[in-house]
Amino acid sequence: MRTAMYLDANATEPLRPEARAAVLAAMEATGNPSSVHAAGRRARRILEDSREALAARFGGRPGDLVFTSGGTEADALAIRGLGAGRRLIVGATEHDAVRAAADGADVLPVDARGVADLTALAALLDGGPPALVCLMLANNETGTIQPVAEAAALCRRHGALLHVDAVQAAGRVATSLAALGPHSLAVSSHKLGGPMGAGALLLAPEVSTVAPLIAGGGQERGRRGGTPPLPAIAGFAAAAVAAGEVADLAPLRDAIEAVATACGAIMCGGDAPRLANTTCLALPGVRADAQVIALDLDGIAVSAGAACSSGKVTASHVLAAMGLGALAGQAIRVSLPWNATTAHVAAFARTYPRMAERLRQALAPRAA
Ligand code: PLP
Repeated sequence: MRTAMYLDANATEPLRPEARAAVLAAMEATGNPSSVHAAGRRARRILEDSREALAARFGGRPGDLVFTSGGTEADALAIRGLGAGRRLIVGATEHDAVRAAADGADVLPVDARGVADLTALAALLDGGPPALVCLMLANNETGTIQPVAEAAALCRRHGALLHVDAVQAAGRVATSLAALGPHSLAVSSHKLGGPMGAGALLLAPEVSTVAPLIAGGGQERGRRGGTPPLPAIAGFAAAAVAAGEVADLAPLRDAIEAVATACGAIMCGGDAPRLANTTCLALPGVRADAQVIALDLDGIAVSAGAACSSGKVTASHVLAAMGLGALAGQAIRVSLPWNATTAHVAAFARTYPRMAERLRQALAPRAA
């Protein structure tokens, strides 16, 4: 079935033309960047040019950027590599990529808007053993932006390390390791319009010798073994440069929210500072998966909670942490892609009210 309107950018962004061109060019380059001959040196040039572009884009030094297979591996490398021997503290609304790697961590609560409670963080850090704290820059389900710069300053005062998952923030809001001040930053190619298969962990200079998850032939200065996927990395760098710092999709998102709230939907986390492309809309009494399926049948692609968990019918841990109770199982995420236009809004406006009406009727108690 053809999807007419793609409104699930937080699952993956459409490929940017600049990224496609860079992928194709890199695929023509025969050579392993570790080889010493001319072909290897040409491949190495592509790798190092990409590294320089990405490090400049995200506020770090090229030598402190470790290529990974994506955001999940970058998060795991930070947590396992920097967290060894430290107490782990993880934001309540972190992605499963972080939660799974930080099993058994203390949980940092959020308020009703999904914003981390820094007073609680200070209390958790007070007096305890040295910690690694994980706090995402922007949430994948609600778009909520966390006070990362403040958290970084707090962590540094307490001798703690801060890892920031910037997978959803990169290319949408200002994302700079140097400006925000954490010890590491995870980014992912396919979330900013590059190909799948590449990501990066950018490290602060004082922690740049992180222990590897995957040992091997000494690639990435011994921090990540394995031949790097050159086409994906070249496309990643091209996408990051093309994406720029900020995506201004707020007028389109606001129009979508106006359509949904007129039908009785409740915005989750709408009062928080948040990404301009993301909205989380709960329709009271109607299961999220039913909404996703009904919209899909009408050619609109959205998701219920995180993409990685959209096959499961479980309430979102993000919305549950925000105290949304039953609504946590009744919310869909609409996330506008970088190339969204008013046509996306028009398609949503044609479809959403019909879906809401139909599903409510289906749920209404029948007359005897
Ligand atoms: N972190 C966040 C906030 C995400 O939204 C995702 C993917 O949805 C990831 C990490 C994992 O990234 P990747 O798909 O590149 O492994």
